[in-house]
Amino acid sequence: MPSTRSFTSAFAALLLLAACEGDTTTRHDFVALGTTVSVTIYNAPRDRALDAATRIEALLQHRGRDWYPWADGELARVNAALASGKMPDISAELATLLDEAARLEILTDGRFNAALGDLQLAWGFDNIASPPDAIPATATIQAILDRGPSLRPFSNGKPESVTIDLGGIAKGALLAESAQRLAELNIEKAIVNLGGDLLVVGDVDGRPAHIGIRSPFDETVLGGLDIRPGEAVISSGNYERFFEIDGKRYHHILDPATGFPVPHTVAVTVIHTDPVLADAAATALLVGGAKNFDTLADKLDLEYALLIPSSGDVVLTAGLRDRLN
Ligand code: AMP
Ligand code: MG
Repeated sequence: MPSTRSFTSAFAALLLLAACEGDTTTRHDFVALGTTVSVTIYNAPRDRALDAATRIEALLQHRGRDWYPWADGELARVNAALASGKMPDISAELATLLDEAARLEILTDGRFNAALGDLQLAWGFDNIASPPDAIPATATIQAILDRGPSLRPFSNGKPESVTIDLGGIAKGALLAESAQRLAELNIEKAIVNLGGDLLVVGDVDGRPAHIGIRSPFDETVLGGLDIRPGEAVISSGNYERFFEIDGKRYHHILDPATGFPVPHTVAVTVIHTDPVLADAAATALLVGGAKNFDTLADKLDLEYALLIPSSGDVVLTAGLRDRLN
């Protein structure tokens, strides 16, 4: 019997402690990508800032539709074509992201895998309106794993019957694209926050943005640090979408090796100037767990990363230890 069911769209593991809102600060909040988004622009005239923030909103809404596998946007059409054995038409933007996802799959030894859409469907985590409450049959999971879902063959130009799910990398990609768009609009200082995953453009009123990393177990702050211009802070955790049976939690981040939700790790945060890498890395580190943390962090060249195993310890890179206070 399921004991509890929870399905929050996004639970920020980060808490923005200091972002002073003066006369020249414009903040635009909206819902996109199934989460709350805020675009805060500093030191720009209000009309120009509002125009820029509105353009970012339009970009996120547009991409949110096109990169969401479970509706009727571009990725859904690509998946439908793949399912019927056809080579899909793919826009340049989506093709770039798929190539990046395939590269990161290889780099993370398959722990990040954007071809797990069929597993997500089997678990029911695609259904935001009606969250799942049961474990799929072992045979169903095994049949999907036996097909060896992977984006790798895809990057070789051959169609493969997989269901692509970019949920583990889309926010990072959209933070990167937002930053690029803001630069084109001559916005020099901003914070884009996608439900707790954020990117800092420039310094914030002459000082770095200060954030607190919150414990996934309670409301306590594990430590604070200054985020430098150009850095993204991205978290993955078992608290975003889950259900529980007999006290055991089943959540939306799946281990591609077992087809089951990752049992050993609660949360990961990665700080990096490449938001796409940070996003895939956070997912991959969560899948790898504490025992693979150092190896994966080295392989991905991560200076600043933190992982919280179910035991409640904190595992972190030396670089992040030096920056945390
Ligand atoms: P994130 O919060 O970035 O870790 O992304 C979680 C989302 O990524 C899930 O909702 C799935 O859409 C997708 N996902 C789950 N497991 C994996 C995995 N092992 N590799 C890549 N994407 C995954
Ligand atoms: Mg991710």
